[in-house]
Amino acid sequence: MKEIEIKDKQKYLDENYIFEDIPEVSDRKRCLHCGEIIVVGNYKVYANEQGDEYIYCPNAPECDGTIIDWMDV
Ligand SMILES: [Zn+2]
Repeated sequence: MKEIEIKDKQKYLDENYIFEDIPEVSDRKRCLHCGEIIVVGNYKVYANEQGDEYIYCPNAPECDGTIIDWMDV
């Protein structure tokens, strides 16, 4: 997995968030994998060998939670 640097984090979220109700980068969520409350805008993006990009928990790579693991607080 290779980390991708995202310059405009809100724009990236708007274009790549897979659910409705796109969060703001200032929103807080609880990551179910590491249990921490995270600030959405601190997310990280990793690409797999096929080049598919995934939005990960800010605590990646220690935490393997992705946006589907984030719950409203
Ligand atoms: Zn996490």
